[in-house]
Parts: sequence; structure tokens; C-alpha cells
Amino acid sequence: MGRLQEYKMNKEDFPIFQNHKDLVYLDNASTTQKPKQVINAIKEFYETSNANIHRGIYKLSQKATEKYENSRKIVAKFINASQKEIIFTKSTTEGINFLAYTINSIIPKEKDEIVLTEMEHHSNLVPWQQLAKRKNMKLKFIKVKDDFTLDMEDAKRKITNKTAILSVVHVSNSLGTINPVKALIKISKEKGAITIIDAAQSVPHMKVDVKNIDCDFLVFSGHKILGPLGIGVLYGKKHLLEKLQPFNFGGGMIKKVSLENAEWDSIPEKFEAGTQNIAGAVGLAEAIKYIEEIGIENIEKKEKELMKYALEKIKDIKDIKIYNSEKNSAGILSFNLKNIHPHDIASLLDDYEIAIRAGHHCTMPLMEKLGISGTARASFYFYNTFEDIDKLVEGLNKINEKFNN
Ligand code: PMP
Repeated sequence: MGRLQEYKMNKEDFPIFQNHKDLVYLDNASTTQKPKQVINAIKEFYETSNANIHRGIYKLSQKATEKYENSRKIVAKFINASQKEIIFTKSTTEGINFLAYTINSIIPKEKDEIVLTEMEHHSNLVPWQQLAKRKNMKLKFIKVKDDFTLDMEDAKRKITNKTAILSVVHVSNSLGTINPVKALIKISKEKGAITIIDAAQSVPHMKVDVKNIDCDFLVFSGHKILGPLGIGVLYGKKHLLEKLQPFNFGGGMIKKVSLENAEWDSIPEKFEAGTQNIAGAVGLAEAIKYIEEIGIENIEKKEKELMKYALEKIKDIKDIKIYNSEKNSAGILSFNLKNIHPHDIASLLDDYEIAIRAGHHCTMPLMEKLGISGTARASFYFYNTFEDIDKLVEGLNKINEKFNN
């Protein structure tokens, strides 16, 4: 790793850490902090290029359009897609809802089952429950094993010729488990199912190549990858996007309109009705540039080291129960301390300026399966340090002394 990469792997570029000198931020699975380059790119957009896109004939509008489309290009290259296959959304949640509302037009009538897993985030569960109710479809769930990984034998049983859709989380936000999405997609393709990947927790942390995993659709959120809030990405294979009907109708997505009828523009514009979050797209592209300067492989490597260190340190804490697969976990550490509610752990750690999340992490059915109401969750990004983990462990030991002595 070069010096530039090493320099960038710390908190220096992140103003939040200058404004909160003692902050130990370990809630990166919820949202990541933003480097000054991203903040400045958004500021610069509003100061130098702000105008509405696509329809403008004047220079400023052309400049804004160029910036917006260039952002699409940067996102596309990052996940190995083509520009036309990238739709800007608000978030992962919006991307999945869009699919749940539009996907029926590309599903053969005889297929009526949707396969998910027991570890889905509510955002990749509730929209499918609603689709199942609307269209009288059946939901099936691939089991999570005691070691917190997916039961692939169960996957083979559940994915059948009746499977219309497989929609799976790539990295679990509650357990950190990295799911074998490529294998799941292969099984689903053999049965003719449409495949969707919730990549909210993977795209920011590891190399994700849509061609390599061969998914039909993939979604993620900008705010979890150093980007601003309110911008997300939906990737879809070109031939499928061309077949899908739009969900939002209005300005900017039409070719021709009469009083009674309308014809749609080509992809991706067909799916981007109304004024878009142009500054959000610009900010997201800047975030991806920042990630690429470090190298996503270097990020993945550092997070693995942080996680290994954390797992080693934390297992010695008295009365701790860990909810991670030791072999196959991204930088998300899930745990409970005996006799202490996870909310109390988070709130007591906050007294030491340590920010973690506690609760069901929008995976209530998974928590129910594990027989708990929630966990405490520390989630890492490349700017975290081994010292951050030491402070977490120190804080947890102090809490234990108070409660479990
Ligand atoms: N899926 C997963 C795995 C997530 O971790 C999250 C965010 N916690 C979401 C979906 C939803 O993301 P957003 O709130 O940005 O739509």
C-alpha cells in the first residue's frame, strides 16, 4: 500500500472528527461520515454549476447535466456496469420498493414464489410481503444456521421452478455475514428466477462486480459509502430495465405526451421522473473517487484486520455473547452482555464518546429466531483504528464491572 493510501485511511479528511475530537464512531453500518472532498464537491456544485438538468439549452444547465451524467459514469464503472444500467434513487429502500412495484411485468405467470433469507433487513422484506399480498404470491425464507451463515442446502430446496424472485442481502447488517451471492444467483438462474442483491453493506466495503456475480438487479445507498444522504443506486441489466414499466410518471421521463397518452424515454431517464438529486449524485461520485484513491481492496483488507482484532479482544470480555460467523464476517460486530439490555450498553458507551447502535437493526424476524430482542452492534469503516477498538473494549469492561459484579 502506498503512502497516499495510508494517509487517506485515517480520520484526517473527515471534519466530524475535528469537531468531535474524542468521538469513537462505530456506527458505520447505519451511515458513514463524510470526507471534506465530498462536502466540498456538493458546495462547489451549488456555487458554480447549479441549474436543472437535461432540458436546459443554456450553458449552466449543460454543465449541471454533464456533472450528473459523469457521476452516473463513475458509479457504473465502480460496479462494472454500463451507464444506462444505473438509475439514481433516493436509497436502497427506494430501489427495492421500485422493484417490488414494477417487477411483475417481467415474471412468467406460472411462477409465484419469492425467496428471501431469514436475515433480511426490513427494507428487503416488507416490500416483498406487500407484493405477495397484492399478487397472491408465496414468500419462502432460506434458513440461517447456528453459525450465523446461510444454510445452502436449504437454499437448494427452497429455490425451485416456481421461484419468481430471489432477493438476498449481500452482507447482513445485523450479523456481518457475507453471503455467497454468486452461488445463490447461479442456483436461481438455473430455475429461471429474477435475482436481486441488497448491497447496502457490501458495495462500500468490498469489490462488487455486477457482471461477475451476474445478478439481474442490485441496490445500494450513497450515505453508507461516504456519500450524502438522499441518493441511492439501482443497477439493472439493460435488457430487463428496457422491459420494466416506470413507477414514477411525470416530467423528464417521456418521449412524447398527448392529452390522453404518453411514450417513455429510453433507459435510464425512463425511471428518473421529476427533478433529480443532482448534487447528491455529484457527492456520491466524489465519494467513489475517494474510495478508488484508497483502493477498495485496501479498505476490505483493513476492515478484516480491524474485525479480527476486535473479535480477539472482545471474546475475553466477561459474559459476552457474540453473534458473528468467525470465518465469514465483514466489519460488523454484534454482541450482548449478560444482564444488560443492548440499549443500556449503547447509552453507557455514549458516556465515553463511543457511538454504537443497539436494537433489532431492522431485522426483527432474525432477532426473534435468535431468541433475543436485539444486539449491540459496532460497525467499522476504514478510518477506524485499533485504538477505537481498545476504547470500545475498555468501555465494555467498565460497564460489565458496574452491572455484572
Ligand atoms: N439493507 C441493508 C442490509 C441495510 O443495512 C440498510 C440500512 N441499514 C438498508 C437495506 C436500508 O438502507 P437505506 O435506509 O439507506 O434505504
